[in-house]
Parts: sequence; C-alpha cells; structure tokens
Amino acid sequence: MKISKIIIYNEPSVPEINIEKIKEFILKIFKIEIEIRENIFNDLDRKMGEKIASTRIFNLKKSFEKHIPTIDEIFIELENIDMSNKQEMIMYDGFELNQIIRELITKVENTQKILHIVFTNKLTCTFDESDFKYHARALLGSNPTIISTTGIIEAPAKPRQYYMDLMTNFSKESIEQIKKKYKGEFLEYNDPRLSDIVQGYLLQAIFYYETGEMFCDNNQCRLFNAHWQKELLVSQIENKKLCKNHEKILDKMKNNIL
Ligand SMILES: [Zn+2]
Repeated sequence: MKISKIIIYNEPSVPEINIEKIKEFILKIFKIEIEIRENIFNDLDRKMGEKIASTRIFNLKKSFEKHIPTIDEIFIELENIDMSNKQEMIMYDGFELNQIIRELITKVENTQKILHIVFTNKLTCTFDESDFKYHARALLGSNPTIISTTGIIEAPAKPRQYYMDLMTNFSKESIEQIKKKYKGEFLEYNDPRLSDIVQGYLLQAIFYYETGEMFCDNNQCRLFNAHWQKELLVSQIENKKLCKNHEKILDKMKNNIL
C-alpha cells in the first residue's frame, strides 16, 4: 500500500462517529498504523480562523468567490462552535477548505505515506459545472480527505414523497407528523447508524487514495456513491459489504500487488 499510516482527526461534537470503533475497524482490515487526534479545527490562530471563514458560500448558484468574513464569523471558527443542524446552516466550499486543512498539517507529516482523514461537522459543498449549482458533499479530496458528518445527513436525498408532504403542510404539528411518518428512512442528527456509515466513507477514502478510482457502480457495495438516503442505508447498513470486484482489489492492496 502507498500508505503506512492513517491519522484520523475526530469530531467530538458527533460522538456517533465512535472513533475507537473506527480505529478497530481499519486495523482489522488493513493492519497499518492508526493515530487518532483531536479535532483539527481546535486552537486555530486568527489567521487560520479568518481563512476558514473566508470559504463560506452564500450564493448556491455562483462558483466560489472568496468571502470577506465578519468578526463574528471568524469568532465561530476560532471557538470551533458547532453550527450544524441550525436554522441557518453554514456552507463551506469543500475544495477551498481542503486546501486550508493542508496548511494545518505539518511538513513532516505532509507525505504520501500518511493519509490524513478529517471528520468535521462543517457542511462541505462543491460547485458543479454541469448544473451551475453548489451541492452538499459527504466526502472530499484525497489527502487530506474530509468526511463531513453533516454532509452525510444532508447530501443524499430523502424520499421524494417526504419533500412533497412537507411542501403541502405548513403547520408545525404536521411537519412533526411527517417526520415521524418517515422516521428511519433517512439519517437524522445524532443517528446511531452514523457509526457504521462513516466506516463506508472511510473505505471510500482509502480506496480512492490507493487506487485513484472513486466509487463503485454496484449499489450493494460499500464504495457505492449514494445519491439517496435509501441507497446509503442499503449499501452501508443492510448489505455492509464490498462487491466481489472490490474484495479482490482489497486483497491485492493488502498484499501490495496492486
Ligand atoms: Zn464495488
């Protein structure tokens, strides 16, 4: 394998990640060194706080324009305040944020041999040139890789009927009822299923870095790029396996014959 070590940066505001279980999971498959670190956004200096705040996006229909952050916006970054699942969700340009994370990694550790995987509750988005819109993303980059827990919850779409029900009901009670009706069909904040689901994204990150190939077309495989919550739950919870082809690739990877 290209990598001999993985450093995982935790997101303690999302305990469902279950970082120790993650460590065991990777060790069991790859038998490489794993180090768990605290949140990468802890103790930022002002310059870095400002840089991160400058990657905020406001217009979803326009490609990235560097934002000049306010004092409050910088403060949120410096204090690393959890802004996920708030009425007004903050969105960040994922590629820009990825570049900034790279700056947070020391030169010594910025090597091909070490894969850095950053968990964050920040909602990362990327601008898609094909429809000229920003889309939420759960997984971003190669090394470092960002796994956005908010992206996992927000990016794959919920059932169409759920949105239609919401659109035709405006009272607070009926919204709660609709949520109840669809409960379990998609991930919510603090969902215990997140723990298994992040494992799938970790595998995607490692496979991508090692093989240069992103995602699998087989919707039963853990490397499948789920566009719907249902697909995510099938590939990562119900089936929870790699397809035959990726099992073979994994074997080659582990035996260094890839
Ligand atoms: Zn596959």
